[in-house]
Formats: sequence, C-alpha cells, structure tokens
Amino acid sequence: MEKINYYLKSLDIISSLEEKGEKPTLLLHACCAPCATYPLLFLIKYFQVTIYFNNSNIYPKEEHDKRLGELKKFLNDFMNKEKAQVQLVVTNYDYDKFKECLKPFASELEGGARCYVCFEKRLRDGFTYADKNNFDFFTTALTISSHKNAQVLNKIGANIEKNYKKTKYFYSDFKKKMGINIAREMRDSYGLYQQDYCGCEYSIYPKKHK
Ligand code: SF4
Repeated sequence: MEKINYYLKSLDIISSLEEKGEKPTLLLHACCAPCATYPLLFLIKYFQVTIYFNNSNIYPKEEHDKRLGELKKFLNDFMNKEKAQVQLVVTNYDYDKFKECLKPFASELEGGARCYVCFEKRLRDGFTYADKNNFDFFTTALTISSHKNAQVLNKIGANIEKNYKKTKYFYSDFKKKMGINIAREMRDSYGLYQQDYCGCEYSIYPKKHK
C-alpha cells in the first residue's frame, strides 16, 4: 500500500490557513505529557489549542491519574514559558467498559487489531466532542510516538471525519522533521514522567495473554 506523507499534508493545511490569515480552534487528543510536548509547541503557532485527555485505555486508574497529573503540571509550566493559553478537557475514566472492546484482541501484538480498535474509539470520542463544541479541527498527538503507525492513525481520522459536518481532521506526523527529538528534549527539560508501557493491561503483561 502506498505510504502518504502526512507531515506534508499537515503543512498544506497550515499554508492554506496562513493564506486566509486564520487561527482556528483545534482539539488535540493527548495520552500523556511527553506525547503532548512537541505537538503542542508546533500547533500553538497556527491554532487555538485545547487538549483532550480521553484515555480510559490506561490501566490501572492510579497510572491514568498519574499521567493526567503530569500533563496538568506540564501544561502549567508550558503556558508560563511560552506565554500561551491552552485549555484542558478531561473525560470520565471507565477502564472496565473500555476493556470490553479490547478483550477480543487480548493476544494481539501491540500495533495490531487491538490497537486499531483502541485508536478508533478514542479518536471517534474526540471527534464527537470537537464537532459538538464547534471546534474547527481535531487531531491526535499519538503520531509523535515511534510505536504508533501514523498511516493507520491518519486513515482512521480521515474516515471518522466523513461523519461530521463542522470539524475537520488535521493530518499529522509529528515525529517527522526532528519532531521526535524535540519531544524528547522537551520531556527532559520539563522533567516529565515517562511511562514504560502503552496503557492497557495487555501492554503491561503481553506474555500472559499469548
Ligand atoms: S497497547 Fe496501547 S494502543 Fe494498543 S490497545 Fe493497549 S492501550 Fe490501546
């Protein structure tokens, strides 16, 4: 299958906004502080950004709350440093319900069908929120991760977009053009906690579910 350069697609959207002289609103799904770093730095130049923390995939709740707490701390420090305003929306945590969608794919390797379902669910929730609340764009910071497939994520985003009238999907591949290096530098300079597993219990104990 032909690979699309989603980094270039993101630049196309930005140049068309610059031509029109617009700074639209954008809802950015983020799963943790380290993943939010560079996407936020990149996006605040062109958008009024609100972060959307919708991650009932994270197990256990203590870990979910730890990642959320770290994101709040990062946002506070980031806004002071960059003199920027960024809002944060947090959704209710319900791992047991979320797990029902993942369970049939428990033995899948990370990056396979289970993760597709997980991405799709979180992005669809985000799109629904964005559209209902009149955001111009929606996107996810997940494309910063070297463990996440930007081709898959952007295709999911483009498919979901078809169901909504107001909100457009912002294509991205934040890891490109040194994005991943800048994210790591920001993680270290802000002193952020970096988890060592993706989120669900199957990503903590993959061998147990084989
Ligand atoms: S490994 Fe990560 S992306 Fe995949 S299903 Fe688990 S939490 Fe979701």
